[in-house]
Amino acid sequence: MFRYVYPTAAEGALVPAEDFDPGRIRNEAFFEKLYGASAAEVGKHIANVKWLPKLAKKTVQVTRIFGINDRLGKVSDALEAMPAELSRYGFKPGGGFVWRPIAGTDRLSVHSFGAAFDINVGFSDYWYNNRNKADPKAHIPFKNRIPLQIVELFEENGFIWGGRWYHYDTMHFEYRPELLLYKKPG
Ligand SMILES: [Zn+2]
Repeated sequence: MFRYVYPTAAEGALVPAEDFDPGRIRNEAFFEKLYGASAAEVGKHIANVKWLPKLAKKTVQVTRIFGINDRLGKVSDALEAMPAELSRYGFKPGGGFVWRPIAGTDRLSVHSFGAAFDINVGFSDYWYNNRNKADPKAHIPFKNRIPLQIVELFEENGFIWGGRWYHYDTMHFEYRPELLLYKKPG
C-alpha cells in the first residue's frame, strides 16, 4: 500500500508514469477490519450527507467511521462557497456507498466500505475506457477535466484523488489520510 508516494495537488498537474498508482493497491483485509467485512456490517455505519444542499440538493451515503461523513460535509460546504466555475463540478455526483467489485476485477472497490465518493459522472475520465482495446499493453493516454483546486479541497479533508493514478479514475476520491501523511524514509 505504501509502494508509491502520493503526489498532492500542491505538486501541480501531473501525468502519472506507467503503473504509478499511489493508493490504488489496497489490502482488502485491512479495509474490512476498518469499515466492515460485508455489506450489512459496513451498512451499520452508513450516514446520509447533504451534498451541495443549496446548489445541487443531493444526498450521498458514506461511512460515519473516522468522521468521513462530516469530512465530506466540509468538502461540500467549501465547494458550495467556491465560484460557480468550480462548484459546478459537484453537480452530478456518482455516489458513495455501493458494495461492489472494481469493474473487471474480483477486488472490492473502496465504495464498498463507504469511504469513497465520485464527484461528477459528467466530467469523469477512466483509464479503462481510454485504453487501447486491441493492444492491452499499449500506453494508456492520461485525461483529466477535474480542476486541482477541487482536488486540494478533498486532500485538506483527508481524501486522495484517483487522478494521480496511471490507471486513473478522475471523478474518484477516497479517504486515505495515511497516504497524505506518508513520506518515504531517507
Ligand atoms: Zn469511485
